[in-house]
Amino acid sequence: MTKVVAYLGLGSNLQTPILQLQSARNAIQEMDAIEEISFSSLYRSPPMGPQDQPDYVNAVMEIYTTLEALALLSAMQQIENEQGRVRSQRWGARTLDIDILLYGDKQIHLAELIVPHIGIKERAFVLYPLFEIAPNLVIDNQKLIDMVNACPLNGVERIA
Ligand code: AMP
Repeated sequence: MTKVVAYLGLGSNLQTPILQLQSARNAIQEMDAIEEISFSSLYRSPPMGPQDQPDYVNAVMEIYTTLEALALLSAMQQIENEQGRVRSQRWGARTLDIDILLYGDKQIHLAELIVPHIGIKERAFVLYPLFEIAPNLVIDNQKLIDMVNACPLNGVERIA
């Protein structure tokens, strides 16, 4: 079966976010169809949208997977659900969010899955951890380093 390199964006701002990301990473590593290649540092970032919620902790994980993109999405949603994510307000607080940022060099435009993930280019909390682990990436013919240079940190900071 073909192995695809994919990038996952992880975020949490509830119930000890650092532990949420660690247990998500463990759950992903334990899947037979996924192999971790690398995991970025953790980054603290101010909330997008409603401001009356805690800061987020974000990270990016690089994986090999033999799962098709939609199967990968549902596997990640299952991990979100297992970690007690409650979907309420749009951009509201959440225990765990896992996005598929990139799936090989595929362009996917389905109702439930858009890849490359919308917003990569404007979101410092995605660009900076992604750049840390994959500095030579090119997304939609644009170099990641150029996107990073065009995107201010906006309060995002690497957690030591
Ligand atoms: P959110 O509440 O921000 O996690 O959005 C979740 C919804 O976004 C799900 O219903 C997904 O079907 C949809 N979605 C679209 N593209 C993606 C993607 N690249 N990764 C994860 N979810 C996606």
